[in-house]
Amino acid sequence: MESAATRLAEIEANVARMCKPARRQPADVTLIAVSKTHPAERILPLLDAGHRVFGENRVQEAQDKWPALRDKFPDTELHLIGQLQSNKADDAVAMFDAIHSLDRLSLLNALAKAMDKAGRRVPCFVQVNIGEEDQKGGCSIAGLPAFLARVRSADIPLAGLMCLPPADTEPAPFFAFLAKLARDNGTEGLSMGMSGDYETAVQLGATHIRVGSALFGARGG
Ligand SMILES: *Cc1c(COP(=O)(O)O)cnc(C)c1O
Repeated sequence: MESAATRLAEIEANVARMCKPARRQPADVTLIAVSKTHPAERILPLLDAGHRVFGENRVQEAQDKWPALRDKFPDTELHLIGQLQSNKADDAVAMFDAIHSLDRLSLLNALAKAMDKAGRRVPCFVQVNIGEEDQKGGCSIAGLPAFLARVRSADIPLAGLMCLPPADTEPAPFFAFLAKLARDNGTEGLSMGMSGDYETAVQLGATHIRVGSALFGARGG
């Protein structure tokens, strides 16, 4: 079986390859290694290989796993990629260096308060419900301009837009649409692309790709 470090090098090479025709620089694409469900001993080889940017989707799981790992690797950057309940805002602000799931006013208010309390401002991506799916989180497309105005006036650092395209559909049109929304609304970062579609996402402008199973192998497997 290939090691995670080998897979990491392969994914980085793929990112660089996709950057070329898009006239982009590989350094402008941050690879977030999504370590959710994987224990510390699966994460350590990537830290040992020099990787420092990781993603988790649950506050509690991150609190269980990461303090010990961060003692050894203090320059680790931790991204929250999963949905966040407002009552976990304090914990999220204390633990994470970026939050990818800001999608509603109640959470915006909770995060602004938590950041004031902690004296620490955590950059947030606004998650957009790009496929307009009832069951998914994310700000509605129609409501995005107004929501971004609220984020900007709340003194929360706006990192950009994030999306999770509908499953089992060609993702490219959704990535292209998120990039257009970013241009139309004057936002910078684009958090889009996972194990199955990060190459497409990079071609279409992703600045942050969230890759789990392609690095760590299948979850629960
Ligand atoms: C789990 C997860 C990922 C990573 O998914 P893979 O298909 O394993 O790469 C990316 N983004 C979010 C929001 C996730 O929950």
